[in-house]
Amino acid sequence: MWRYCILSLCISSVIGQGYDGYKIYHVIASNSLQGKVLFELSKQEHYDFFILTKLLNQTSSVMVPPEKISEFKQLLKENGITHSLLKANVGYEIKKQFYYMERPRSYDPTPKLGTDRYYSHDEINNYIDYLAGQYPNRVFAKNVGKTYENRTMKTITITNGDGRANKKSIFIDGGIHAREWISPAAVLYVINQLAENFTENKELLQNYDWIILPVVNADGYEYTRESSSKRLWRKTRTPYTNCYGADANRNFDFHWMGKGASSNTCSETYAGPSAFSEPEARVLRDVLISIKDQCKMYMTIHSYGKYLLYPWSWTSDLPETVDDLHEVAMAGYNAILNETGTVYTVGSSTNALYEASGSSDDYAFGVTNIPISIIMELPGSGSVGFDPPESNIDRLVKETWVGIRAMGLAVINKY
Ligand SMILES: [Zn+2]
Repeated sequence: MWRYCILSLCISSVIGQGYDGYKIYHVIASNSLQGKVLFELSKQEHYDFFILTKLLNQTSSVMVPPEKISEFKQLLKENGITHSLLKANVGYEIKKQFYYMERPRSYDPTPKLGTDRYYSHDEINNYIDYLAGQYPNRVFAKNVGKTYENRTMKTITITNGDGRANKKSIFIDGGIHAREWISPAAVLYVINQLAENFTENKELLQNYDWIILPVVNADGYEYTRESSSKRLWRKTRTPYTNCYGADANRNFDFHWMGKGASSNTCSETYAGPSAFSEPEARVLRDVLISIKDQCKMYMTIHSYGKYLLYPWSWTSDLPETVDDLHEVAMAGYNAILNETGTVYTVGSSTNALYEASGSSDDYAFGVTNIPISIIMELPGSGSVGFDPPESNIDRLVKETWVGIRAMGLAVINKY
């Protein structure tokens, strides 16, 4: 992609954007050598792995641009890697989905948010302010920083209103990766349940406050809402040489630029020019540091793949307290299984997927010493996995809430 700038006005070409002719393949490694081939491939900027699992005989998913397809198929053939074509033309699929979905709208002044569509970052912030105004004794909004493009990042703290300071807490964030729209939607539903369905959930708030940051990468999120040709954007929007954005979830200063992070500015896992180069990661860091003594669980919501993961993300070694982490994750696993029959995979992040150094979950666990740190990868649906139709939102966020609620209770009973 080229950029042409006169004074401060830049025009970006859309050549090569829009995913026309891009294909999605399912690939399955049945031995560790094949797994290594896929891992090496994932380091190349052209291959966008939506899911990359280390588990043998499980499906990974990768999007390949038109100019790489013959090379890609040749590599799979040489290494005997089982594969199947899932989508022959991603551009067409995304455009169709964007068309059928209610289009991104102009600002909606109605503060009540439902599960009927995806909301803009402004609408989400507005909802937080609305709740704080509606329940002034137990819900609190706080501006915690700005994104690169100067969007306001807000947390919402939900309490039971008893006024006790320094209670233990649970922290949840969403939307670190721009294209994972179901993540902010699920986090919004958590806010809705804790704030507006207070009576049914008061046991969750008796001795704990819940602090929530719904959209970490608000710039990227809004970018993906602009058009179908931007729908699969993942990173922040900071301009770097040749390409935009860093992966905010590789930008944390804990084993920064280790395995699973890239120094190539055009890679989907570009870790940034330095740790905490991204303002969004710095804001999240500062929130975590400010609550570290009280906070007992950090949860970060991503999509897609149906995984409940815990540290480490930087190494396949397991932390000493792995039994505690596993116990909490299993509470979520069992609750979801009993409620809907959906089966999540539970394990350490590196062992279920691959290394992802410099991630927020490792930082929360390894630096701010929050004892439970969970990554939840929500189920994929829609044409490419990141785009559940709006008719699916209600079902997905309610299922997710069942899991989050159970993990919250497990933590509350444990600490
Ligand atoms: Zn993600």
